[in-house]
Amino acid sequence: MLLEAAAAIYKRMSHAAMRAGRSPEEVRLVAVTKTVAVREIQEAIDIGLRIFGESRVQEAKEKIAHFLTPSYSRIEWHLIGHLQKNKAKYAVRLFDLIHTVDSADLAHEISRHAEKAGKIQDVLVQVKLSEEETKHGVKEDLFPLLQGINALPYVRLKGLMTMPPFLDNPEETRPYFRKLRELRDKAEESGFILPELSMGMSHDFEVAIEEGATLVRIGTAIFGERSDRQ
Ligand SMILES: *Cc1c(COP(=O)(O)O)cnc(C)c1O
Repeated sequence: MLLEAAAAIYKRMSHAAMRAGRSPEEVRLVAVTKTVAVREIQEAIDIGLRIFGESRVQEAKEKIAHFLTPSYSRIEWHLIGHLQKNKAKYAVRLFDLIHTVDSADLAHEISRHAEKAGKIQDVLVQVKLSEEETKHGVKEDLFPLLQGINALPYVRLKGLMTMPPFLDNPEETRPYFRKLRELRDKAEESGFILPELSMGMSHDFEVAIEEGATLVRIGTAIFGERSDRQ
């Protein structure tokens, strides 16, 4: 049941935060609803979930269309999947936070469309910490990208995101999460303001919280296995 599953996740999130000497309120749950039906998202809203993460712009567009009335104004939609420049226009209209900015070109495109839409777009920069080729994200050029984003008038940089390789034992993922926090700390010493760390998924969110996550992206542990794993 959705309610039981979500309650269990919140409890584990709180415990992980407290283990690390953090306040549970510092960590927000992004319920990942890719492939999850509108009816089930409605159910999730009914039990009090407020932040939803989608991977694909087109899929999100169709679903978010069901939640546009003022009664849903407190719901946040986050883009957690890779964004192509030619979809920036729609992403800006749909999402409160884009987790996956990984190039200056993309950031520029987002700013351009945000200006047209009359909004300031909140973004995170996706950082690649492993050598896996399939993963998007910036590596060596992080600081120049942060600088470039800060120079854009209609984009607001809020933090960093990472997606480490899938490792069976979540403890093995810890060094990646720690690395992202250390990068953030280093960037803050250089004057950047990066309050958000988006890291941790169903099987490793507790370790991520212990290492400083402020946004955990959880799908399977709330909604069950996706049929078409993506
Ligand atoms: C699918 C996805 C998640 C959620 O994964 P689960 O293992 O189902 O919790 C988190 N982050 C990103 C970027 C995803 O694509």
